[in-house]
Amino acid sequence: MAADRMLALLPTAAILLDGEDNVRMANVAAISMGIVRGQQLDVTALTQLVRSVRRTGDAQTVEFVIDQGGFPRRALSVGARAQPLDDGEVALVVDDLTESKRVDAVRRDFVANVGHEIKTPVGALTLLAEAALEARDDPDAVHHFLSRMQREANRLSRLVQELLDLSRLQGGETPPASGDVSVDAVVDEAVDRGRLVAEVKQIEIVRGGDSGCLVVGSENQLVTAVSNLLDNAVAYSPERTEVAVGVHRRGDMVEIAVKDQGIGIDAVDQERIFERFYRVDPARSRDTGGTGLGLAIVKHIVSNHRGQITVWSQPGAGSTFTLRLPASTTAPGAPSPTDGHPRTEASPA
Ligand code: ADP
Repeated sequence: MAADRMLALLPTAAILLDGEDNVRMANVAAISMGIVRGQQLDVTALTQLVRSVRRTGDAQTVEFVIDQGGFPRRALSVGARAQPLDDGEVALVVDDLTESKRVDAVRRDFVANVGHEIKTPVGALTLLAEAALEARDDPDAVHHFLSRMQREANRLSRLVQELLDLSRLQGGETPPASGDVSVDAVVDEAVDRGRLVAEVKQIEIVRGGDSGCLVVGSENQLVTAVSNLLDNAVAYSPERTEVAVGVHRRGDMVEIAVKDQGIGIDAVDQERIFERFYRVDPARSRDTGGTGLGLAIVKHIVSNHRGQITVWSQPGAGSTFTLRLPASTTAPGAPSPTDGHPRTEASPA
């Protein structure tokens, strides 16, 4: 009985079959994986494995995919090991490998993407260096090639920095620091960082909403998140438009919204822009010095702070990215008396 209880705890499916392929024992995982129905195995490949093991007398391990049907179609990648026992009995264990296979695939894609992203500026640097060498007697041409080299080198260093940021942020499930952070200070700093680029395009960054809000976490990371959103708002907006940053206390959450009047994002792309290296228009993103990692970084920062990020956008009309973060419970984070919101709204639930 103790053994049964222990088997029930395992994520691995464990099944014992008699000499006629009847299931004598199956743990919870075997039932929930859907490989046992009543007294029978419900997967042909497993029945074949059991019979083969019984015939040869040797243990065998196989990996295969179980099509579970449904819409969208679900497939379970499994690794199964069967061991012959006495009197034709066979012990069978089956592991669900779906998630680890998916993670492997994501990792492989990521490494391939990083390679590709680094190759582009490095290739450009090589070509530009050759061109500069060939043009060494023409100072204007040398200057031209060197300044383009500088741009490529900057892009490379930004890419490397963002990759390091991303690897540091991944896997951090708890807020990176437990101190209270002033949202005003976060927005101040992010706006300050974005102002120069905005000025070049004559884009005005305006601020509004509640002041005095506090959240828990890392000021540095939150500045990076808001800064990335502001950089995008400016990068994907035409000249002489407006970018607005609004802070609002809503119940026990604080919202920071970055709104632009830019090119907007199609509904199909909205689902994918938070993926690493996904860009709607790669050429445009590269022109603006984008790495395709900005929003992936924002997503990780927000999830480390137990928050959410949402996007509203319409092509041609603009986009609004909204960060929702839990308000600090150690301080009420009261809105200032000038913002017109009822005091009760600011109290934590
Ligand atoms: P990038 O470095 O390319 O800007 P991000 O991860 O920050 O990478 O953004 C991914 C993609 O999402 C961008 O390439 C762009 O196509 C789209 N995008 C992000 N923010 C905006 C925005 N405010 N307006 C329009 N498109 C945007």
